[in-house]
Amino acid sequence: MNRLDRQSFLGPDSDTLLHECTVGLVGLGGGGSHVVQQLAHLGVGGYVLVDPDRIDFSNTNRLVGGTLADVEAQALKVSIAERVIRGVQPEARIISVADTWLEATDDLKRCDVIVGAVDSYKERDQLEGFARRHLIPYVDMGMDVTDLGNNGFLISGQVISSLPGGPCLRCCGLVTDARLEMEAQAYGVAGGRPQVVWSNGVLASTAAGLVVQLITPWFPSSPEFVYLEYDGNKGIVRPHGQMGLLKGRKCPHHPAEETGDPLFDIRKHLARLESRSKVAEVERVPLWRRLISFFRNDCS
Ligand SMILES: [Zn+2]
Repeated sequence: MNRLDRQSFLGPDSDTLLHECTVGLVGLGGGGSHVVQQLAHLGVGGYVLVDPDRIDFSNTNRLVGGTLADVEAQALKVSIAERVIRGVQPEARIISVADTWLEATDDLKRCDVIVGAVDSYKERDQLEGFARRHLIPYVDMGMDVTDLGNNGFLISGQVISSLPGGPCLRCCGLVTDARLEMEAQAYGVAGGRPQVVWSNGVLASTAAGLVVQLITPWFPSSPEFVYLEYDGNKGIVRPHGQMGLLKGRKCPHHPAEETGDPLFDIRKHLARLESRSKVAEVERVPLWRRLISFFRNDCS
């Protein structure tokens, strides 16, 4: 029995497709840690995990997989995510980068999908721009809590599937120059945003569903732009009002001439291919012959 038998409805070869794909996850806090856990259970085979932070005591209200022992050891969030994945998939292909995503671009540009669970508008704007340049689908998730005065607090959030050529976070009105400006002025005094585990869980589950939709033939039609909004007080996830209006529209913010890797160096690419073919050659030599050769060299 295959451990993924009960998700075979995701379509022919969905296990293989999930196993062969690589997902980049930027931000492994309250939201990203849930996504990692779900992708591991789903059987996604490759990961580029990016987060510069270590767990602290205040993260334990929401960071899935984090323990008090991790707080004691000041464990990196990427290491916690890696442990969660290996608990289900010991052989997963994992690249962990305990730094900002700008230090992980070489690995992120080889991903099939990138999921962003980052705090700032500036970071998600830049990350989406990077994904567009490399023609990689980008799934963005974010949660917020608004003080309504006498009416308490409103938990809200959104998940957006931003595909090359289609509407982007700017088209959605999520990233605006005014917001970026406000954020830049508040930088350093804003403090940590309020976060709760169940709302992060709803948004992360929604994001994981969109990733599966992008990778497997679960949906008969091709993946499209998706903009879902979450009302945590009512417990509802629904299409945002903008989603219908934007569907099928072309994005003016990331034009086709801005695609492609400006740092692409053919020499680096060829060197990588060459080293791969050398590894393949070594692997083609039978083990018994390699052992004999090893002992001969060792004894001479
Ligand atoms: Zn746009």
